[in-house]
Amino acid sequence: MQRATSGHTPDAATPDRVVLQVAIDAPVMALFDYLPPADGLRPQPGQRVLVPFRRAKRVGVVVAIAGASSVPDQRLRRALAVLDDAPLLDTHLLELLAWASGYYQHPPGEVCASALPRLLRQEHADSPGIPIWRITPAGREALAAGAPKRAPVQSRLLHALGADDGTGVTAEQFASLAAGWREALRLLERKAWVERARGAPPVEPPPGAAETPPAPTAAQSAAMAAICAARDFEAFLLEGVTGSGKTEVYLRAIAAQVAAGRQSLVLVPEIGLTPQLVERFRRRFRGTGIALLHSGLTDRQRLEAWRRARDGRDLIVIGTRSAVFAPLPLAGLIVVDEEHDLSLKQQDGFRYSARDLAVWRARQLGVPVVLGSATPSLESLANASAGRYQRLRLPERTGMARAPGFHLVDLRRQVATDGLTPPLVAAMERHLEAGGQVLLYLNRRGYAPTLLCPACGHCLECRRCDARLVVHRHENRVACHHCGASRAVPEHCPECGGELLAVGQGTERLEAAVAGRFPQFPLIRIDRDTTRGRGQIEWRLGEVAAGRARILLGTQMLTKGHDFPQVTLVGIIDADQGLFGTDFRASERLAQTIVQVAGRAGRGERPGEVYIQTLFPDHPLLQLLVRDGYERFGEAALAERRAAGWPPFSHLALLRAEAPSREPAMRFLERARAAGETLAAAELRLLGPASAPMEKRAGRYRAQLLVETANRARLQRFLGAWRALIAALPEAGRTRWSLDVDPVELF
Ligand code: ADP
Ligand code: ZN
Repeated sequence: MQRATSGHTPDAATPDRVVLQVAIDAPVMALFDYLPPADGLRPQPGQRVLVPFRRAKRVGVVVAIAGASSVPDQRLRRALAVLDDAPLLDTHLLELLAWASGYYQHPPGEVCASALPRLLRQEHADSPGIPIWRITPAGREALAAGAPKRAPVQSRLLHALGADDGTGVTAEQFASLAAGWREALRLLERKAWVERARGAPPVEPPPGAAETPPAPTAAQSAAMAAICAARDFEAFLLEGVTGSGKTEVYLRAIAAQVAAGRQSLVLVPEIGLTPQLVERFRRRFRGTGIALLHSGLTDRQRLEAWRRARDGRDLIVIGTRSAVFAPLPLAGLIVVDEEHDLSLKQQDGFRYSARDLAVWRARQLGVPVVLGSATPSLESLANASAGRYQRLRLPERTGMARAPGFHLVDLRRQVATDGLTPPLVAAMERHLEAGGQVLLYLNRRGYAPTLLCPACGHCLECRRCDARLVVHRHENRVACHHCGASRAVPEHCPECGGELLAVGQGTERLEAAVAGRFPQFPLIRIDRDTTRGRGQIEWRLGEVAAGRARILLGTQMLTKGHDFPQVTLVGIIDADQGLFGTDFRASERLAQTIVQVAGRAGRGERPGEVYIQTLFPDHPLLQLLVRDGYERFGEAALAERRAAGWPPFSHLALLRAEAPSREPAMRFLERARAAGETLAAAELRLLGPASAPMEKRAGRYRAQLLVETANRARLQRFLGAWRALIAALPEAGRTRWSLDVDPVELF
């Protein structure tokens, strides 16, 4: 192994020595030094090389070129080949990746790999398959000088090449110009006026005219004016309830970029990448290429979309989290929709926040970034009140719709039958009779969360997790939602042989109960279980959009970005799941969920109502939210965070460890803590180690150690030194551990 070190001690290197610093997809916190390949090719930063690595060949990305290496000469090996003709990653992206690797304390090779489509992490050539031709600088000069004279076919071809927008000219296009094109092209190639490359087939612009946008409201105009006036980096927090017209603002700001020939990147949460949203972009931007980057693509599709972004052919790039690393040679604008959404933070491996990186990237590129949400994260609210983000508000709802009215239903006073209290049932009857749609939210899939033996009190639990098994009636199985283990529902209690009872509500049970009570109203359930099949989610959303389904019931899949204009009543079956979570973010999450779910009510012409069933109707934050809205809630929640010293008023990193038994994980964390104490400056606290809230999961015991400080720069310095000490601990080899910087979930 030839690990590079930072800082190059000048050795006896020849002055023109070239050392490639290569990022290799391996769990090592370093770059690797190689000499250029023997064929004399000198790759540039951003190009891939094939290198010998341990006993195999690996693909790596050249990140930098140095004049010397700290690796002794006899151990410095040569790269085997250069894989690309030109850099795949430009200097902006390389800088972003280097910064992210340092900030998130994650190996640079793995970080680099996450920026490349899977096919390019392998030896796959960056050649899309069809030959194209481009004019050379010499060709351009010749063209300007009026050549080629007396060769009409060559002249026609060269003019076509000169008018090319950079995507290249295909054989098919030449063929449409002149019959004798092959011979003429050969002659042009011989004069070196034309060069051959490989390119993608031209994208057919979809037929039809682009739709005309609606006239903006005053608030939308003001927001658009602010965004379009930004000539350099500027961060905007676009706040507006669902249906207030945020997407319309994005569309207009993007249209201005398209008109200027610049690219826009739109990041959306995983589930938010709905057909509805993409359709809306397609309708608005007919003839403008849209590259989609999300997990539902095949490797080839992803590579193709990535290339179209990289070549600047598609001016709009829409994608989930990892699209924050999409190449944007013509960057003009970055949009992060639903910026509060948890899925923007990667929760395993390279644990980056796509939102935070988007802001960093916008600053680096000198372009505006718009963070949009009905329920901004407290971090962004704090940034806005500190003046770092410019706040743009869309207060009114467009059209006739009004904000929904809230009702808190006290579960201590009202008896819920199958999860439904009489006030909620009465409201459902009222709205259904009046022709409205009803949405019921319950963030728990399955039939019932518990299978209990009333005789002996035994609950069926997962053998590998600290969790109860969830009853799935349809499959007649009990399943663990944490490790995926499942088995047939036992006939009798394994302890005493008594009858087993399904206790509590899941969406499957709620569906049965609602269908029994309202048999005349078609019902659609949307959760992970009902939408596994291809096309299922589209079909179900379609039934709701067309008004054929009158009752809509489901989990948080319903809360994200979908437009249900005919929903007039929202019922939150159990608000208490979130209120008393162990995480300091529990109340923020609950408020966001309530507002997001409630936002589905009354988006059309009809006003909406929201019923929230809770055991704690007097909870101060719940009261504040329902009475005064999310903004006031946010202020109060921020004040609580400040008093308690939690983010955004402090900065956290979480060291997690897991092992087949409790002991090694705890011992590792104790050693890590001791190592940290040798480094820790004042004002930096190490809290723990402690067992994770769900200690056992998938047969592994999990524990964690929290680092907290008021100063981000101090945390960064500490983490760099600490990680090196941790990795060197003998216990590190016996546990699976990871470092999570700015964790969004404390377990
Ligand atoms: P959000 O993204 O905040 O949920 P949208 O942009 O999706 O809001 O707008 C909600 C609905 O209102 C959409 O159907 C949209 O077409 C419509 N809409 C948005 N802005 C206007 C406007 N200025 N005039 C008329 N309709 C609008
Ligand atoms: Zn389990």
